[in-house]
Amino acid sequence: MRSADTIVIGGGLSGSAIALGLVREGAGRVMLFDEQLPTQRLSRGNFGLTWFMCKGASHPIYAQWSRLACQHWPDFAARLEEESGYNIELEWTGGAVHAIGEEEFKVHTESIEGLKAVCAQVGLDYPVKMLDRQELAELIPKIELGPEVSGAMYTPEQGHVNPLKLMAAMRAAFQNKGGTFIGAQTVSAILPKTGGTIILKTNTGDYQCQKLVVAAGHGSTRLLAPLGEKLHIYPQRGQLMVTQRHKRVLSIPMLCVRQTPDGTFVIGLSTEDTALDNRVTTEAMQSQAANAIRLFPMLAKVNWVRAWGAIRVMTPDGAPIYSRIPGNDNITVVALHSAVSLAPLAVNIVAPWIGGTGDHELLPHFKNGRFDV
Ligand SMILES: Cc1cc2nc3c(=O)[nH]c(=O)nc-3n(C[C@H](O)[C@H](O)[C@H](O)COP(=O)(O)OP(=O)(O)OC[C@H]3O[C@@H](n4cnc5c(N)ncnc54)[C@H](O)[C@@H]3O)c2cc1C
Repeated sequence: MRSADTIVIGGGLSGSAIALGLVREGAGRVMLFDEQLPTQRLSRGNFGLTWFMCKGASHPIYAQWSRLACQHWPDFAARLEEESGYNIELEWTGGAVHAIGEEEFKVHTESIEGLKAVCAQVGLDYPVKMLDRQELAELIPKIELGPEVSGAMYTPEQGHVNPLKLMAAMRAAFQNKGGTFIGAQTVSAILPKTGGTIILKTNTGDYQCQKLVVAAGHGSTRLLAPLGEKLHIYPQRGQLMVTQRHKRVLSIPMLCVRQTPDGTFVIGLSTEDTALDNRVTTEAMQSQAANAIRLFPMLAKVNWVRAWGAIRVMTPDGAPIYSRIPGNDNITVVALHSAVSLAPLAVNIVAPWIGGTGDHELLPHFKNGRFDV
């Protein structure tokens, strides 16, 4: 039977990051399996923000974790590019969330104060401030603001990345360091044996390993249920629109609009409870376009050329799940939203914790069992 020290199920952003972190830690023979179904395009269909601002408004630990991730991002990207040979197109320009009217400006201002206090509890800074309309206009002078925009929440310490290249780079670096990636590999069952060995049933035969990471997105629920583990995730659809290329005018990403280095605008901020239906709808397109034009009226003149939907892996409190399976401590599940933003921590902190070479004081807060009632 084919064997590895550790197998990671799921080659999306989460699984690729964990697999890379494991080989960096010298975790022995590591294999990464991915089913590669065209319908599972979450890691290929996201917005690409490397973001901490606003995250964790109702979950202090998640706010701290997100802030920490952005502290790791610049060094993480530099090392990843060196190891993989990829340019992941990280633009560490800062980012902003605009406000419409005075009331929203006030809400943003209050939220900054709250999250600043939360981050200070663990010695983290929270470098976010409000810009008034004039200051925002000066920050992005090549694009005109809509008349209702009152200002924005802004931090210089976040940015955006090409998420496709990020995933490809993590997979490449993993393989360059001796890891084995196997695509079109579907795991149908996880069978823990006495003594700690785990057998995996796959479409190409059986594998065995000593440690297993389940990072299969919505596919994880089905794999873990026979082990008695109810994974607390639910599907939430997001839809994105992409425009034709345009001369570069937007120099920082906004929460609902960003312009990529090749000139396209990516627009979107929809959240819908739709089960696993990843179709696009005219309602979401209309509302997202209207929202973006309210912010930047020039977008009304730019043609929209593509759109897609993708299904987020959401948890009830929005924070990640990094959790060992009770009774099977050598099996870990990783399930989360924001796997782009949190990729540096998956590589630098979560993987060493899984491999047994590291730990972090915030990790115990992310157990799947926190949702058990
Ligand atoms: C519209 C939208 C915008 C987003 N924007 C951002 C953003 O700006 N910033 C950010 O940080 N995050 C963003 N996200 C979230 C981000 O895309 C996800 O957190 C991330 O893609 C999750 O990756 P994953 O690897 O956990 O899951 P997935 O991408 O679903 O990967 C799981 C993989 O497991 C494989 N798999 C499943 N079952 C099996 C099996 N039985 N055997 C083998 N393989 C299996 C699947 O083929 C899949 O490739 C966005 C999401 C959406 C929908």
